[in-house]
Amino acid sequence: MKYYSLNHNAPKVSFQEAVIQGLASDKGLYFPETITPINADFFETIENLSNEEISFEAIAQFVGDEIPTTILKEIIADTLCFDFPVVEVEKDIYSLELFHGPTMAFKDVGARFMSRCLGYFNKDNKESKNTVLVATSGDTGGAVASGFLGVKGVEVIILYPSGKVSDIQERQLTTLGQNITALEVDGVFDDCQDMVKKAFLDSNLKDKNLTSANSINIARWLPQMFYFFLAYKELKKHNKPLIFSCPSGNFGNICAGIIAKKLGLPIEHFVASTNINDTVPRFLENGIYEPRASKATISNAMDVGNPSNFIRIQEMYHNDLEKFEKDFSSYTFSDEETLEAMKAIYKTSGYIAEPHGAVGYLGLKKELANHEDAIGIFLETAHPIKFLDTVEPALNIKLPIPSQIESVLNKEKVSVKIKTYQDLKEFLIH
Ligand SMILES: *Cc1c(COP(=O)(O)O)cnc(C)c1O
Repeated sequence: MKYYSLNHNAPKVSFQEAVIQGLASDKGLYFPETITPINADFFETIENLSNEEISFEAIAQFVGDEIPTTILKEIIADTLCFDFPVVEVEKDIYSLELFHGPTMAFKDVGARFMSRCLGYFNKDNKESKNTVLVATSGDTGGAVASGFLGVKGVEVIILYPSGKVSDIQERQLTTLGQNITALEVDGVFDDCQDMVKKAFLDSNLKDKNLTSANSINIARWLPQMFYFFLAYKELKKHNKPLIFSCPSGNFGNICAGIIAKKLGLPIEHFVASTNINDTVPRFLENGIYEPRASKATISNAMDVGNPSNFIRIQEMYHNDLEKFEKDFSSYTFSDEETLEAMKAIYKTSGYIAEPHGAVGYLGLKKELANHEDAIGIFLETAHPIKFLDTVEPALNIKLPIPSQIESVLNKEKVSVKIKTYQDLKEFLIH
């Protein structure tokens, strides 16, 4: 499979090159040259297949022959080492729980898959290493640190804003050691992000083989389609149209869902639910794509003013707004509405949703009003414990600490403090 840059000003590359580079040389996102629907038989008998078999079928064409089948199957089995339950919250409304992985965030899936692909591509590479550089406002860093821990030939450097991530998130980043280094930046998330962007463009760092582990990287983004297939496998028996609502920030998750639909997965409609960072809902309203600086909310993993994957979604609909709106809606919700939803869900069903999932639930409810007799699924993208400062007071409960979190709480934090881009550069060179 070849990948082209969405800026159309860089050579086409293989899967391996796209994974190693992250972004094309013209700064465009990579996109697969073809998306070939899977045979209809596959969907008709999907309930007879294992999660690994389903996921292999979904991703095989995107990897091509660049990873041998047996190894790709091992990578998939390693990626899916935890459960993806669909839990009925109300009649015909389900939560697709994506938080049962090692760091209790859905980003575990993409991070595990990408790290193992990079590890495979580096297996014979003794001289040069790949360096994964990521900026995190919380969840990404922990998932990347855990996913890449101990992967040979890959050095991981995570930048996070000092004092601006939760205690649990900080420990997930700073206690692992080995090939993972946490740089604690005296600044805010945008400062971390700017430093990372600068490093990618810095010609003095060319020989460092820097790559990103954000959802712009195809190996982080594409495996996110697995759980749309797995949810379909569970819910197919009801024989009703399925509507998925994704709490969206950079729109990587929902974009993976749309690829799954292109492959033939019967999904009736998508809802991109956002907090007040509403660039896409505004676009659907007036047809003008106008990014704005991000605003802080209680669903902070979605505080994104210019969603990086939206351009991939536009590519799939050839910028045809009418066709796009048939498949896709997007709604925005305030923190007040989110808190009300968390309380209402808990009161009626006893289900504990954290703020991102609650935004997904709200968007789903709104869209279901337009679809008679459909089943709705919202993605629950993180475990409530990761947002305990919001969840506990809102619901007036005390959350038990899951074992994955317990295990990092007693470990000692190790970080390197930096302030400027020059500090980062010196760190990378030495
Ligand atoms: C990253 C993240 C999101 C947003 O996902 P995108 O793929 O960027 O749209 C939503 N919820 C949580 C908890 C996240 O960590």
